[in-house]
Amino acid sequence: MKKISLIVLLLSLSLSGISQNTYLHCGKLIDTQKGKVLTEMTVVVLKDKIVSVETGYVSGQNSDDVIIDLKTKTVMPGLIDMHVHIEHETNPKRYIQKYTLNDADVAFNSLRFAKVTLDAGFTTVRDLGGSGVNISLRNAINSGKVVGPRIFTAGKALASTGGHADPTNGNRKELIGNPGPKEGVVNSIEDAKKAVRQRYKNGADCIKITATGGVLSVAKSGSNPQFTLEEVKAICETAKDYGMHVAAHAHGDEGIQRAIIGGIKTVEHGTLMSEETMELMKKYDAYYVPTITAGKEVEGKAKIKGFYPEIVVPKALAIGPQIQKTFAKAYKKGVGIAFGTDAGVFKHGENAKEFGFMVEAGMPAMETIQSATITNAKILEMDDKIGQIKAGFIADIVATNDDPTQHISTMEQVVFVMKEGKVYKE
Ligand SMILES: [Zn+2]
Repeated sequence: MKKISLIVLLLSLSLSGISQNTYLHCGKLIDTQKGKVLTEMTVVVLKDKIVSVETGYVSGQNSDDVIIDLKTKTVMPGLIDMHVHIEHETNPKRYIQKYTLNDADVAFNSLRFAKVTLDAGFTTVRDLGGSGVNISLRNAINSGKVVGPRIFTAGKALASTGGHADPTNGNRKELIGNPGPKEGVVNSIEDAKKAVRQRYKNGADCIKITATGGVLSVAKSGSNPQFTLEEVKAICETAKDYGMHVAAHAHGDEGIQRAIIGGIKTVEHGTLMSEETMELMKKYDAYYVPTITAGKEVEGKAKIKGFYPEIVVPKALAIGPQIQKTFAKAYKKGVGIAFGTDAGVFKHGENAKEFGFMVEAGMPAMETIQSATITNAKILEMDDKIGQIKAGFIADIVATNDDPTQHISTMEQVVFVMKEGKVYKE
């Protein structure tokens, strides 16, 4: 098998003639592994890979080599957001759209969300729940039919009956039906296994559970535990069999604890996490995905009359403002932090606001960038391919006007985007 692919590789190289290199001249270059800002560096890209990183500004011998001048920019690896919902975006009609949009409408909308996300410098995202259009979108992007970030998707999120991701919450009785594992609703250990296997069959890359109530669902509690420990364990053990990790949406402390002990990899939001639970996260090697931007967004929108259903408003006002405070505490305690925003709950493409909120809460700028690159790459088991600008890695490269370690808000103005060696924004 290996021999054949080597022959194919050599053949394709000889057919394409002399290979065209791209030389990126970088005024500043962030070494995410060492946490250092290097100056006057050249990154050499061939096809979709980084072939070398050189000191000084160098160029090649071939007449068709390309030089990209980023001498006044700060260059870094493509950013990774661990929590987006690429199918949807907040708007006052969001709750009605569940009944008015067909999958095709959702798909066309998601194309724009994918494009603005990539333009904002996010070359990889983890999509934590939608209808299944997210799986088709991932495939279309991977095959080069449409433009967007590399997507790792959970497909449809898992909930228990009436839980945060029960697709029929708030419906009138004829429309409630009896959703089960196929629709992502789990009420026993057997259901849990079946729901995970169904996600695998549908083509999901990872599993998302709603371990507690949530803010935006049409349901009373935003924080109660919604799975038993045994159900969480069954989900995580089954997911492991299929090479998938589990992300847990969770606001309340009891639900967060069950999720961690049950074997999840990341805690999303983590709003009411106690200090004891923070210790538990360290013990179990679980990561915290704060989504501060989403917290601030729901708090703000809840103050606009009629934007959210009435049952959502008090939850948004109670939970929204708390996330940044919890993040500050968790960071100080040494909990592993994975950058993630919940984009979709706010406008796609504004993901980088999160950097500013993290810095405001006490995390140094360099560490926020490391969380959005090397930490997230590790969780996705892609740390030998993305998250660093290094020979052999995929050429996902972005640049900002300023040095973000001096001015973090520059992360919101990404001016150059390369994904897999192809320039999408210059
Ligand atoms: Zn979310």
